[in-house]
Amino acid sequence: AALLTGAPAAAPAPPARHLFSEPAEVEALRRNLLAWYDRCKRDLPWRALAAMEPDADRRGYAVWVSEIMLQQTQVATVIDYYTRWMQKWPTLQALAQASLEEVNELWAGLGYYSRGKRLQEAARKVVSELAGRMPRTAEDLQKLLPGVGRYTAGAIASISYGQATGVVDGNVIRVLCRLRCIGADSSSPAVIDQLWDMANVLVDRSRPGDFNQALMELGATVCVPKSPLCGECPVKQHCRAWRRKLFGKAPPVPDVEDCGVGDCSLCPPATEPWDSSLGVTNFPRKAAKKPPRAMRTATCVLERRGCHGAPEYLIVQRPSSGLLAGLWEFPSLPLAQDLQEEKEREELADHLQAWIGRPVAATGLQFIGEVIHIFSHIHQTYVVYSLHLDGDVTLDPALSLSRWVTEDEFHASAVSTAMKKV
Ligand code: SF4
Repeated sequence: AALLTGAPAAAPAPPARHLFSEPAEVEALRRNLLAWYDRCKRDLPWRALAAMEPDADRRGYAVWVSEIMLQQTQVATVIDYYTRWMQKWPTLQALAQASLEEVNELWAGLGYYSRGKRLQEAARKVVSELAGRMPRTAEDLQKLLPGVGRYTAGAIASISYGQATGVVDGNVIRVLCRLRCIGADSSSPAVIDQLWDMANVLVDRSRPGDFNQALMELGATVCVPKSPLCGECPVKQHCRAWRRKLFGKAPPVPDVEDCGVGDCSLCPPATEPWDSSLGVTNFPRKAAKKPPRAMRTATCVLERRGCHGAPEYLIVQRPSSGLLAGLWEFPSLPLAQDLQEEKEREELADHLQAWIGRPVAATGLQFIGEVIHIFSHIHQTYVVYSLHLDGDVTLDPALSLSRWVTEDEFHASAVSTAMKKV
């Protein structure tokens, strides 16, 4: 019954094949995983802070920042951003006093920009409403901090405060699905609930933060999506996918053979049984993703001679909500699909006129090329034009959402990776 803590009362118990029901096995898995982690863990700046920082609020903040940055972003990319962030804002109080523009500038290039903004809003809340004291449990972190979900709350509470609570992220999903041959859609709520229950059962009671990081590290470095290094895996003796790969025969009736029951909610669907050519990468499985939405946007690099003769470029600020909120970009205009090139130029010329306050001839726009950038759910094509402006070009000071910048200033501004490509 302890294995099912938190599951809805009516949910039938999953077959034992998909659980960790032997206490001795759970103990052995914890021991093997932690011993491997102690030997092989990567040296990362937030781990050093979590281990060395004596002040509990600073420690929680340091882990929080790392967890937000690591969402959707690779460790190697995060390290440099994290180091600069913690130098600039080493405490919640320092972050609470920063401007959104400064946050966006530091975040530029890291993607998913609303993360930085929400982090700062939440820091302000801790300072103003919680007297600067970080909540100490996963439940309170999730309840009190905007933008902190179940995973981030569990990570902060276990790593910073030693709460014995599990975490489930993409790496953990992959490892657990393989350890227990879970082949049902791993993004479905029923499977996710089971994985949270399992993570809470497995987490080591005396070293929960290290255990959670070890499970994620295993997924990031050994139990990787495409070619997992099973031979080097510290928990292979607990892994049912690995055992099945070594000893499994093609079953005559796969869904029945998997669990001994025909309607197991955690086995691969009968229509997509175990494929022996895939081995352990049969798991996890996901329902097919919706293809990203295609968008075309015309953008224009407007150039003028600056006061010292160096070229300057016009950038304008995006609205404060929605995609890339508050970031700066070259003047851009979303285009209807299948628009004729001539019409495209005319629309862009009208749009530019609104920014610079004088007529722009569509024929003067020079086509440069196309830049493709994939946002999480949008396949964006930027159709890039350029235009050199002669004479004195001054902007209406009322248009505070635009400014002329040199190339160096452009790179130091809060601009997206897509605009840097442009
Ligand atoms: Fe992953 Fe292979 Fe280890 Fe199983 S044995 S947990 S599949 S790396």
